[in-house]
Amino acid sequence: MPAPRIEIELDKLAHNARKLTALYGSKGICVTAVTKGVCGSPRIASALLNSGIRSFGDSRVANIQKMREAGLGAQFILIRSPMPSEVERVVEFADVSLNTEMSVIRLLARHASQHDKIHKIILMIELGDLREGILPSNVEPMVAEVMGLQGIKLIGLGTNLACFGGARPTEANMQELSAIAENLQQRYGITFEIVSGGNSANYQWFVSTPDIGLINHLRIGEAILLGCDTLTRERIPDLYTDAFTLVAEVIELKKKPSRPYGEIAQDAFGRVPVFKDKGNMERAILALGRQDIDGSAIKPRIKADVLGASSDHLILDVSGLGLEVGAKVQFDVGYSALLRAMTSPYVEKMYLSRSHLMARGSSSC
Ligand SMILES: *Cc1c(COP(=O)(O)O)cnc(C)c1O
Repeated sequence: MPAPRIEIELDKLAHNARKLTALYGSKGICVTAVTKGVCGSPRIASALLNSGIRSFGDSRVANIQKMREAGLGAQFILIRSPMPSEVERVVEFADVSLNTEMSVIRLLARHASQHDKIHKIILMIELGDLREGILPSNVEPMVAEVMGLQGIKLIGLGTNLACFGGARPTEANMQELSAIAENLQQRYGITFEIVSGGNSANYQWFVSTPDIGLINHLRIGEAILLGCDTLTRERIPDLYTDAFTLVAEVIELKKKPSRPYGEIAQDAFGRVPVFKDKGNMERAILALGRQDIDGSAIKPRIKADVLGASSDHLILDVSGLGLEVGAKVQFDVGYSALLRAMTSPYVEKMYLSRSHLMARGSSSC
């Protein structure tokens, strides 16, 4: 079997999706499964579709196009505000897009009308995380203009938290989103189909809130893929955190000092590394590097320590483990390592499902 590879247990992902849709559905919240962490893999999306997911979100039009062309019958939401240069493809491939810029919405409207289409949009509201979003005080005039445009249908509001600034979803900001939606609905006599309260980081808010207000939608990626609450990275009860297994191969194994010697200057990435002297250790080099993973976001399933990674080499302290050259080492992946492994054409994607039949995906995604 090829290495490095990422083994993807589709049944575990389907299980996670089923549990989360049931949990959120218990209070009337619909889930869009976010596929950007897996490059919009049609194999994964198809497993999620079989588990009851009916809506997919991705930040890249190319991923949405790929899923659509794979014949997946679902709603597709572009979850990153469109580039002006891609509006034509957005209208062609996405049913809905999240938006914050009036100039972009006007372009979407123009292309949609030209093709006799109605493109649906959700306006994103800034509530403190300081990534995308319209400031609450500026939403109303935008809604007024959007409602007058041909080719566009405003179907809702949304917000995104805990991504850039670390501002978490709270009772206060969720109620604020509901209140903004309520005001606009009354003022314009409309009913929003979607009030999208956030992402995987909304878990604690959801389980503790006495009242979800008007929020009826979440966009969930990491909790489905890695089974965790992204505010703490702790496992959500009953979910699998090990649906992905990264496997890499040992290409050098030697007892060497733990501290570099000679005159120390910058490493390959412009930093001057500092290592503790722990005497001699058994050091393994694996054929895997920063081009494939984020070395700080992988965890060996054996009792080894990750010492660091260069572009193509991962260095582990494997003292006392009795490994050999050619041995395969398994790792759990965090989100940034998953992203990179799925994106790297050098990491083989291996899809596993209940039948234990292995199907090898194409090596690029
Ligand atoms: C990535 C993203 C999500 C999903 O985030 P997770 O933490 O993976 O659940 C939801 N909404 C937007 C706008 C995103 O960019």
